[in-house]
Amino acid sequence: MATPATDLRINGDRLWGSLMELAKIGATPKGGVCRLALGDLDKQGRDLVIGWARQAGLRVTIDRIGNCFMRRAGRNDALPPIMTGSHIDTQPTGGKFDGNYGVLAGLEVIRTLDDHGIQTKAPIEVAFWTNEEGSRFVPVMMGSGVFAKAFTLEHAYAAKDVDGKTVEGELERIGYIGPEEPGDHPIGAYFETHIEQGPVLEDHRKTIGVVTGVLGIRWYDCVVTGMEAHAGPTPMALRKDALQVAAKLMQEVVAVAHRHPPHGRGTVGMVHVHPNSRNVIPGSVKFSIDLRNASDALVDAMDADIRAVAAAISRDSGLPISIELVSQYPAQPFHEDCVRAVANAAERLGYTNMPAVSGAGHDAVYMARLAPAGMIFIPCKDGISHNEIEDATPADITAGCNVLLHAMLERAGVV
Ligand SMILES: [Zn+2]
Repeated sequence: MATPATDLRINGDRLWGSLMELAKIGATPKGGVCRLALGDLDKQGRDLVIGWARQAGLRVTIDRIGNCFMRRAGRNDALPPIMTGSHIDTQPTGGKFDGNYGVLAGLEVIRTLDDHGIQTKAPIEVAFWTNEEGSRFVPVMMGSGVFAKAFTLEHAYAAKDVDGKTVEGELERIGYIGPEEPGDHPIGAYFETHIEQGPVLEDHRKTIGVVTGVLGIRWYDCVVTGMEAHAGPTPMALRKDALQVAAKLMQEVVAVAHRHPPHGRGTVGMVHVHPNSRNVIPGSVKFSIDLRNASDALVDAMDADIRAVAAAISRDSGLPISIELVSQYPAQPFHEDCVRAVANAAERLGYTNMPAVSGAGHDAVYMARLAPAGMIFIPCKDGISHNEIEDATPADITAGCNVLLHAMLERAGVV
């Protein structure tokens, strides 16, 4: 007799084993993974995952940007599939879990349904999206972005790596240009499990983050213009020191984030001082500003705040300050039904959980434009990712996958 669906649990050892197996492809000496999008190792990783999918009897389809879909039929196969997925490309000094966990957790959900003879009403699909990391080719989240029509296939195809190789050429070379038109693929709902990539869950000692949305992002270039002059002969009162004025504004970037809690973020990550000489008063300083918050209205408020502060600092100092918006990504709230499905599953399974927001982009952001979507976070050690030391515990890996299983079953329906 089949196990009642409410009692289903995934096989944590099998999931862990698959993660470690995939992590061998591109393994680095420090315990991480380097599997850049569309390289030979990416092809090997893709082949391995698709081989596992075929062993599980899944139907595999590939689209023209190399996104791969692995499908388990539903009782009513005409229903749009309940999909999960993520990516298997990594950063140059990436870890074993970022992205890979989301894909293999999906495969483990299907293996578990097979073990217990569970049939779902809607089909279940696992996807992996091409070039999520954006490390070798820009833009990031390329496969899911083309799928969601955020930009065109032609734009993605033309992207070049540092050696001048194109996405189209590399996809062709590794044999991953499929026949399906990107986006020509209905989705009933989309879930993605991912390591948190931040320290909040660990700090709160919670196992599951019920992700309510992804932060909106604005990037700016800021320039403070002063006057370079000799550090000795120029008295303090008669200087136009661009760096001292820039330093005040940089502190305000952080202060603005503190003024818009709990999700406000303000970062200055890049600074160019001109002429960058120890005995010259800096004549100009260019620096980046990265502002984030949970809604576009809050990011708007932070934008207005930093511009007002910059205007006041400019007035007081007499130095011109320009702030130019260079790119922006809107905040993406997840669908309340999917958020609830994740929270319900975590509660029913008895895992400690809390609402969470994602400060980083994920393929789920683009899927949320097409279908109800949600995400599940699990803690990663010290909140570290995009690093070879990225780590997560087998217990948390198992917990996140169990939540994924039950959230997907809630949406797919059990026959
Ligand atoms: Zn990722």
